[in-house]
Amino acid sequence: MMGLSDVQAKMDDACQQAGRDSAGISLIAVSKLQPLDRIRAVLDEGHRQFGENRVQEAQEKWPALKEKYPGISLHFIGHLQSNKAKEAVELFDCIETLDNRKLADELQNEMVRQRRVLPCFIQVNTGEEAQKSGVTPKDLEPFFAFAKEEAGLDITGLMCIPPQDEPPEPHFALLHKLGREIGLPYLSMGMSSDFEAAIRCGSTHVRVGSAIFGERQV
Ligand SMILES: *Cc1c(COP(=O)(O)O)cnc(C)c1O
Repeated sequence: MMGLSDVQAKMDDACQQAGRDSAGISLIAVSKLQPLDRIRAVLDEGHRQFGENRVQEAQEKWPALKEKYPGISLHFIGHLQSNKAKEAVELFDCIETLDNRKLADELQNEMVRQRRVLPCFIQVNTGEEAQKSGVTPKDLEPFFAFAKEEAGLDITGLMCIPPQDEPPEPHFALLHKLGREIGLPYLSMGMSSDFEAAIRCGSTHVRVGSAIFGERQV
């Protein structure tokens, strides 16, 4: 385990190597299945951007933490069922894993109802894996048009989780190319094992859990 400041230092190094400004990259600290004392320690270090992958688990910890620590931005990074759209819009500040039309419609309905606008990223299944969520690269353009024009969502970026058993760089490169083609500025890619490679490939949001907090408690 490295810890927050080590991860930040490695991000800075990767930015320097890539000739990028580190101000252009957000570190999303993935706090799923982490004990509260570790999350509080990272908050006490001043960090404010976090990621969670389950609505119910997030509901158990974040309302109180958001009250205590102003300025928190909470990203949803898991598979979101459309019947959880209400709770997700109430608690989260960004949805990174938009991947189907029903969810797009439900999210928009809830945002209108709650008068809250959450930026959304579209999850792309770059490896076209059967068990993984996300739209395929081929379906991205029509889905983006739907989510933006018909559902009316504020789509700001793309997100991917490369296949576990493959080098991630080709997937990062593909996501970068797709983002450029449809004109989206943000790319959420890179985790504990590959955030430096992701930064070299153009990532703007890295989602790092165990390297910051240590092993998750299952
Ligand atoms: C758990 C998770 C992460 C963080 O994984 P680590 O390997 O602990 O950094 C990043 N992204 C998603 C979508 C996750 O579910």
